[in-house]
Amino acid sequence: PERGRFGPLVGSIDEGTSSTRFLVFAAKTAEVLTYHQVSIPHITPKEGWVEQDPEVILHSVIETINVTCDNLIKLDISPEDIVATGITNQRETTVVWDSVTGKPLHNALGFMAGYRTASTVDQILQNGKRNKNFLKNVCGLPVSTYFSALKIRWLIDNVEGVRRAISEDRCLFGTIDTWLIWNLTGGVNGGLHLTDVTNASRTMLMNIDTLKWDPQLCKIFDIPMSILPEIKSSSEIYGYISESVLKGIPISGVSDQQAALVGQMCFHQGQAKSTYGTGCFLLYNTGTAIVQSSHGLLTTVAYQLGKDAPPIYALEGSIAIAGVAMQWLRDNLGVIKNVTESMDIAQSTGEVGEVYFVPAFSGLYAPYWRKDARSVICGLTEETKPGHIVRGALESVAFQVRDILEAMALDCGYPLQKLLVDGGMTANNFLMQIQADYCGIPVVRPLMSETTSLGAAMAAGNAKGVEVWDLDNVQPVPSDCFIPSITEDQRDIRYSRWKMAIARSLDWVE
Ligand code: ADP
Repeated sequence: PERGRFGPLVGSIDEGTSSTRFLVFAAKTAEVLTYHQVSIPHITPKEGWVEQDPEVILHSVIETINVTCDNLIKLDISPEDIVATGITNQRETTVVWDSVTGKPLHNALGFMAGYRTASTVDQILQNGKRNKNFLKNVCGLPVSTYFSALKIRWLIDNVEGVRRAISEDRCLFGTIDTWLIWNLTGGVNGGLHLTDVTNASRTMLMNIDTLKWDPQLCKIFDIPMSILPEIKSSSEIYGYISESVLKGIPISGVSDQQAALVGQMCFHQGQAKSTYGTGCFLLYNTGTAIVQSSHGLLTTVAYQLGKDAPPIYALEGSIAIAGVAMQWLRDNLGVIKNVTESMDIAQSTGEVGEVYFVPAFSGLYAPYWRKDARSVICGLTEETKPGHIVRGALESVAFQVRDILEAMALDCGYPLQKLLVDGGMTANNFLMQIQADYCGIPVVRPLMSETTSLGAAMAAGNAKGVEVWDLDNVQPVPSDCFIPSITEDQRDIRYSRWKMAIARSLDWVE
């Protein structure tokens, strides 16, 4: 193929909870030229235990890179035009591996590892003697099953091989970015053990102010600092890919979900975006200020674009169950054949069914942070049809986002004016409309839905030494807008009923 047809290209490895993608962007236009996607299976060794095989994840990344580069050649575009790649990854997922053999010491524990680490939370909180927010001013996070430190602690307590590897000084820990970087830069032959500030900010082990591993936090969780990767900014050359078609290409942008803030160009304080995937994450840019929430939100690093650049912080509302509820309706209840069908089935109910569904499959995250919350479906009548349940599940996502916007308005002092959205679930127009209806603000959806991958590519293309992407002169992507279409009264009535359903979910006693 002819070189340089689209100018410099930047790759983006997007390793999500449900699938892995590799996308190639043209740096000049921010356009996706091609991509390939493969799904990642979940393994459930026991009821409520969800894990993934780190090697399957790694192979999926290599496969998507190879197929995407073949696609480029078919399009008469040379893969040699790729000048750098970024990585964005599923959040808080914990991998531990042996530095000598390169083999994982256990499957990866993802964000739905909830039930397994519940007793670890009790242990750290000394069975209720400590408040769940006792470390919040150091790391920005409440003690929850969600964050990596709890999973590392669980692995040390329960897996003999992990304890042995630590004592023999051959255990390495990483979130998925770290696992991928180590393997792509050489693995057992000199792989680099690195992570970025956004991923590190979700482990509960990084000090949110100094952006370094915090000895006191490591002591509380009793995690040896020797297993932790080095923390870098989100945009700098980490190292070079050692094998594959991309051999010699730098990895120069790394971020977890926060990359979507960059991709949505939320570079200013007060801007917010919500990403609807397996879970749903709402991030609100607070600039260089570290805002501590008093209403159940997390304080996290949004991005740091270069090692000398100031870190930009965000308040975040994290929802564990969003798109995965659709998978549950499909796989466990069988009321939809595929997730896309959820829109038509929910709409087919015609009117509001008054079914309220709180999907607390791994307890409730923001703003409640209750691992003991249980799922409830309220309001069933003789007339209830599967469509009402499907509608209730979609509405639960919109109501949970409203819960978070309420908390953000209380923490920041003023309500949000519009909500930028992205992620797989935003393909659902019905969800987008009820989101606008229940929050009472416009919901703006970019026509290009891969904004998280775009953010990682922008960070990679902007890194010092690569410099093919100028973040100061980017154009906002074209978008659709959903405008609220119900009255204030209707909105308030429905929301108050949702809160009643939440109260039942929280009151459930085992
Ligand atoms: P992740 O990055 O977490 O892997 P994605 O952004 O790829 O997630 O989104 C996938 C999720 O979105 C899945 O859980 C799926 O059930 C849900 N989803 C995808 N399309 C739709 C749709 N049209 N309606 C409802 N949910 C959808």
